[in-house]
Amino acid sequence: MEIEKILLKQKDFFKTHQTKSLSFRKMYLEKLRDLIITNENVLFEAINKDFGKSGFDTFSTEISFILNDIDYYLKNLKALAKPKKVRTNLVNQPGSSKIYTEPLGCVLVIGAWNYPYQLSLSPVIAAMAAGNCCILKPSEIAENTMNAMTFIINENFPSEYLYVYEGGIEETTVLLQLKFDKIFFTGSTKVGKIVYKAAAEHLTPVTLELGGKSPAIVTKNANLEIAAKRIVWGKFLNAGQTCVAPDYLLVEETIQEQFLEMLRKYIKEFKYEPGSEQYTRIINQRNFQRLIHLIDKEKIYSGGNFDEEELYIEPTILHHIDWNSEIMQEEIFGPLLPVISFQSYNAALNNVSELEKPLAAYLFTNNSEEKETFTRKLSFGGGCINDTVMHLSNDNLPFGGVGGSGIGNYHGKYGFEAFSHQKAILEKATWGEPNIKYPPYSEKKLNWIKKLL
Ligand code: NAD
Repeated sequence: MEIEKILLKQKDFFKTHQTKSLSFRKMYLEKLRDLIITNENVLFEAINKDFGKSGFDTFSTEISFILNDIDYYLKNLKALAKPKKVRTNLVNQPGSSKIYTEPLGCVLVIGAWNYPYQLSLSPVIAAMAAGNCCILKPSEIAENTMNAMTFIINENFPSEYLYVYEGGIEETTVLLQLKFDKIFFTGSTKVGKIVYKAAAEHLTPVTLELGGKSPAIVTKNANLEIAAKRIVWGKFLNAGQTCVAPDYLLVEETIQEQFLEMLRKYIKEFKYEPGSEQYTRIINQRNFQRLIHLIDKEKIYSGGNFDEEELYIEPTILHHIDWNSEIMQEEIFGPLLPVISFQSYNAALNNVSELEKPLAAYLFTNNSEEKETFTRKLSFGGGCINDTVMHLSNDNLPFGGVGGSGIGNYHGKYGFEAFSHQKAILEKATWGEPNIKYPPYSEKKLNWIKKLL
């Protein structure tokens, strides 16, 4: 098996300790940065072929994201990799304690298709920064972007260090039988469980970046114009195919009518419409069919049209939805926004808590009590107050899910930690050896140890 040979080569290469040197890591991070810059057009064309994503969106949500990641690690590598001195407790005196951060070894990154560059390369960059060898398996569903990454990486990096392995379910199943030192998976909760089970066979640690139904909650105390603008952007960016997009809207009943009108206005203003350069296609027929079956014609507030040949679905707002509606049963992952109105803010939060913990949650309000309740009461991966999606662009914040939306996190120093082991070393002095811990024990020693511990 070709891929098994490559992994064995990577394991041998890792044992040479070359990837641990900071200059090695920097050299290859810089190389990747230069390759991304010189191949920007190849990357743009591929993603446009896959699902018609605009150059602006590709740059702002993919390319710039990856370049910022590389910059972050180039700037912070020394500090991140430096052994950290920590306090030494009394019983270990005289001595000193340090935490050494070491790479895990040979890691596997499995990517999703919806932000194919960001979701594949951002973990790869963190793995490289932390000093690992890496095999990347991008999503086969975005075929052109997968080919573009293979072209850029496999032509320019030694395969014993970094390698892109193309394939779908069959190839991933083979990969998952191999023993990696870490698996970093981005995708659906369903496949996340398959990955977790396979990893358990080898006791391989995982990071699982999964999905879920992320709510956007708007109360009467919100700046409604700003809320509408930011929700429309976060929801219909990439035609709703964003893991942290607001999945559904919870809006206070008294402002519902006014607020939906504002949403409609911004959809129009942003030219989020089929065929427009600003608007992305649905990735494939399977997802297209799944989505149009979720459009209940009786519930359409705005939108609802689609074009099967072009795989376009108009941004669609569905109102008079309740918690039992079909569209509320699974993550939507498309440009459909169901709206549920509420009278009691606390009851609405309770309803959200009844569902699986989402990857994100968004609250729009200027009331500090409502903000406080939202942060304390709801469990979710991460989110924003008075914005959508943007929390993941701050690399000082960890990005990841909780419960059904994932395990672990990354971005910035958290990405570095996701691919590192924290090795604890206590160094004892060889002078001064209190005999208290050694047998034979006595009543006097017990009294001393009670005082000390
Ligand atoms: P997916 O789970 O279908 O595929 C993800 C990866 O798993 C792909 O590389 C695919 O080849 C592989 N795969 C698919 N089926 C497999 C199987 N049976 N066995 C082994 N491997 C398999 O997900 P997707 O359609 O690419 O992405 C959509 C989902 O991902 C949504 O649920 C979304 O919320 C989630 N997502 C999460 C994040 C995040 O950062 N948390 C980001 C993007 C997408």
